[in-house]
Amino acid sequence: MILESQILQAVQHVLPENDELKPLHAPVFQGNESKYVQDTIESTWVSSAGTYVNKLQEDLCSFTGINRAVTVVNGTAALQLALFAAGVEQGDEVLVPALTFVATANAVSHTGAVPHFVDVEESSLGIDVSKLEMYLKQHAVITSEGSYNKHTGRWIRAVVPMHTFGHPAAINQLRLTADRFHLKIVEDAAEALGSYEDGRHVGQLGDIAAVSFNGNKIITTGGGGALLTNNKDMADKVEHLASTAKVSHSFEFVHDEVGYNYRMPNINAALGCAQLEQLPFFLKTKRKLAGQYAEALSDISGISFIKERAGTRSNYWLNGLLLNEPDMEQRDRIIKKLHDHQILARPVWKPMHYLEMYRNMPKMDLTQTESLYARIINLPSGVM
Ligand SMILES: *Cc1c(COP(=O)(O)O)cnc(C)c1O
Repeated sequence: MILESQILQAVQHVLPENDELKPLHAPVFQGNESKYVQDTIESTWVSSAGTYVNKLQEDLCSFTGINRAVTVVNGTAALQLALFAAGVEQGDEVLVPALTFVATANAVSHTGAVPHFVDVEESSLGIDVSKLEMYLKQHAVITSEGSYNKHTGRWIRAVVPMHTFGHPAAINQLRLTADRFHLKIVEDAAEALGSYEDGRHVGQLGDIAAVSFNGNKIITTGGGGALLTNNKDMADKVEHLASTAKVSHSFEFVHDEVGYNYRMPNINAALGCAQLEQLPFFLKTKRKLAGQYAEALSDISGISFIKERAGTRSNYWLNGLLLNEPDMEQRDRIIKKLHDHQILARPVWKPMHYLEMYRNMPKMDLTQTESLYARIINLPSGVM
């Protein structure tokens, strides 16, 4: 049997047998969502203050074991504020994996800095730290105030590892390189709520992390995001910037810098509190689904199922398979075959340096990113 038919059969074996469209991911509201949202409407506290905002922040801290959580309007805004907290300024450079969702690079651009694209590795789908270390040794100059790019003269202030599909990037290893080159680590954990490296929730090993609660993520607030950090100064800074840089005063409007209106409304936080209550159930269901895919696909030669790396626990937000060899035509034939049967499989994002606005940004050799782009196929992964 040809490869696309084998894969179709395996995927159909895992998914429910009906004619319904099988989206990549869809939100599930089976808990207190209506009740909590109704609460905010009845109390009229629907906007940027209210008890659910505080509760969601507290619940995120207890779930992750991280000291501070600051909720905001979306994951992209969270990343932008995290970069400011890391000291990124206009004209700096920030190291970003070329294999990511566009928001990672956009958030860097929104700060006025330049994304500098780095390659990923197959085992974590995150930044290839050994390759980055070698690259920086050749192209960066370390000074007492930080490192700069010897070709552009710009400061390299931070590195933004992204936990692809919920699989933790190698932050433990990245810490050594980041310290050597005086880089702050801003984790793009948008996809990784409920994922762990060495038993610690993502966001613990970096300086600050951003998560997303967009409708397609593991839990949703409609639109929303949060910053997670153990660093009190960073948390205070992002909280201040997210709320128009307003200085606390009993009646006067005083703002001490150009701030943003990035606070999460209480009505969204209400939805988030109900969703977070169900996260343990979502995690269990997703792990089970991943196991079923892994088994169903295990006998097919020429492909493998994407599994969590040793020493990590993935939230399995998005499942995927990997072609042994890069082959765009084969990749697309498989996706089309699945679509013909209502299964909305998708390729991974087009790498950042292929996008028009990011074509001329600084970058290292991106061989692995380009190869993975032609090998990854994501499969329906919602809680069903
Ligand atoms: C979803 C996502 C974001 C952005 O989050 P929004 O809430 O949609 O702004 C950033 N990075 C990655 C990797 C994502 O998947």
